Amino acid sequence: MNTKQPDNSITSIGTEVYAGVEVSADTPGCAQGDAASFKQAGVSGRPQPEALLNWYDANRRSLPWRDEPTPYHVWVSEIMLQQTRVEAVREYYQRFLSVLPDIDALAKADEDTYLKLWEGLGYYSRVRNLHKAAVQIVTEHGGRMPESSRSLQKLAGIGPYTSAAIASICFGERIPAVDGNLLRVFARLTGYREDIKTPAAKNAATDFYLELFPQERCGDMNQALMDLGATICLPKGRPFCEQCPWQEHCFARQTDQQEQLPVTAEKKERPVEHRTVFLIYYDQKLALQKRPDQGLLAGLYEFPNADGRLSRKQAADYVAALGFGPVRLQKLPEAKHIFSHREWHMTGWQVLADEWKEFSSGSPREHELFLATAEELENVYSIPSAFAKYRKEIRQDFL
Ligand code: SF4
Repeated sequence: MNTKQPDNSITSIGTEVYAGVEVSADTPGCAQGDAASFKQAGVSGRPQPEALLNWYDANRRSLPWRDEPTPYHVWVSEIMLQQTRVEAVREYYQRFLSVLPDIDALAKADEDTYLKLWEGLGYYSRVRNLHKAAVQIVTEHGGRMPESSRSLQKLAGIGPYTSAAIASICFGERIPAVDGNLLRVFARLTGYREDIKTPAAKNAATDFYLELFPQERCGDMNQALMDLGATICLPKGRPFCEQCPWQEHCFARQTDQQEQLPVTAEKKERPVEHRTVFLIYYDQKLALQKRPDQGLLAGLYEFPNADGRLSRKQAADYVAALGFGPVRLQKLPEAKHIFSHREWHMTGWQVLADEWKEFSSGSPREHELFLATAEELENVYSIPSAFAKYRKEIRQDFL
């Protein structure tokens, strides 16, 4: 690794600009970026926005929301893209728009409709907030999306990144939309050595890009940086620096530190929870239950499931307590689902029940469990992807 050591003589050289960063011996956040290191590395001057925009004009990704970049389209796509890969989002995006083509339709949609459209995308608070914000736009803004990043942030679920993306792409505001891609490119270009997940890093990246952004085409600058991060300056493995329009100005490239940058704090281990999932068939229907309105996967539907790894005997007792019996049990495969802050390690049982005694009216569990037909499962109830493996285990003769 060709790591340059800071030159103590730097205290005498004052402030200079390398890769768009003002660097001096005491530049905060630029522990990496003293002027001597940039000089020794052969980093030449600032990256130019024109070079990036030319590259973008020749190489931009063709994405459905770019065909007609209305504020609604950009907003929906950006919310979907927050936790999901572009390829997965394409199909969801088209389906969502075919049912809810504009802000008004989204504001009027009922919960089961928009949750079903989101089924499998995960992080369902995103679509709940989309709906809430659509109602806000209709009731407070006459159905028109606010235009400035500041006013966009007053809408549910729209933070600094999404507001900057919408405001720059749709309304030309000069504001960088700093996400993981822009942070990574910033850290590599400038040799930023602090943890890029911190607010300080985000501020440093925002300042860096603000300095760099031209007066025009700011939406294209953001999209060019998103594309550069997604296709050239890749997060894992070696980026394709030889195709990068800014390679001459990049600290990581010139010092061969692409794989050491950006720096991120080590991830904490996620706690593991064990669960047992039941596919319970009775009367040509499958048992479902609705999750509580608060907390993990709030308000979504799920297959009945219990804490821990239940043995055959414990599983039989559990379904008996739900009112099913007599039953035939068959073991289902194990499954794992990773949430951002926890992991579920699951085991499962298929249950064929001959009888079901519904909970009596007035029982606290009266509304928890119900039976759904195959058609309702397909078209009405949204089952989170945490249960995807068990969904695939549903008997073919039921579907
Ligand atoms: S030269 Fe390489 S490391 Fe630097 S910004 Fe371009 S792709 Fe990323």
